[in-house]
Amino acid sequence: MSENDEAQSIEDEQSYRFSTGQRVYDREKEGQTSMVIVHQPGETAGEWDIPGTGRTVADFNEEYDSDALVSVAVFEQNLSDELPDWEDLDDETLWKEVQEASIKHYTYPEPRLFRGTANLPGNIETYHELICYQHARLIQLAADVAHDGFLWKRYHQLKEGEYEMASITKEDKYQLKEDFGICIYCKEETETTFDHVIPLAEGGDDSISNQVPACQSCNSSKSNRDVIEWCKERDEPVPRLVWGKYLKQMGEKLAEEGRLHDEIPDNEREKWDGVELQRNITDRIHKRETDGRKR
Ligand SMILES: [Zn+2]
Repeated sequence: MSENDEAQSIEDEQSYRFSTGQRVYDREKEGQTSMVIVHQPGETAGEWDIPGTGRTVADFNEEYDSDALVSVAVFEQNLSDELPDWEDLDDETLWKEVQEASIKHYTYPEPRLFRGTANLPGNIETYHELICYQHARLIQLAADVAHDGFLWKRYHQLKEGEYEMASITKEDKYQLKEDFGICIYCKEETETTFDHVIPLAEGGDDSISNQVPACQSCNSSKSNRDVIEWCKERDEPVPRLVWGKYLKQMGEKLAEEGRLHDEIPDNEREKWDGVELQRNITDRIHKRETDGRKR
């Protein structure tokens, strides 16, 4: 993709929810068989022809938007059998080698897929581990590196205190200034209010590290709800800025109460399963860099 193409695709609000190398599942298939995204051609389901059928991806997926971008995926097992080192390959090489090895691949409208790494892994047992793991996901997303090797390396660095969590909130402060006037939740350009990520009523503080710009409607709708549960219920990914602030507040509160190294109770684990993160911050930074305009 050239820089111009990239700017254009962001302009059209056609950006991928997933990246190459990411593990995903097919919503239409029973059971959990992990797939890996191996190619993103930048075309929509209505444009992409399935070879030998004379029909498009949209023709086979009528319940999904034909304007959705398509992703090409393979079964993870097939991929690991044929290319055991696939996680070390860059996007271009991965796709080239998948084709050379003739690994059977499938093209989907992206909304048909859901991410496979969102469930809380079993080795995450304490609150401290949970916070390190969720921070590592945030860093992985910001760095645009899809594979899990990167995530676990960062996780261990955070856990051992070799990597500063504060670096994320510095970026957030800058971002808050830049994005004021756009609702963090629904992305409407509108007059924004300050939403407390952790409601004051739930013990959140009144500092900037607990506030995000939100429109009146989202602010009222979220109200005193837990933001992660509220986003899950609306089937929306959690914005990165909100995620970073939520984790920081949560960590501070638990440390203060001396509960940071307590085991996470089962009912609280459930809350973290299937939580998706939004890529919106990097998209906006790209947009500013590529179109040369200032808001
Ligand atoms: Zn809103």
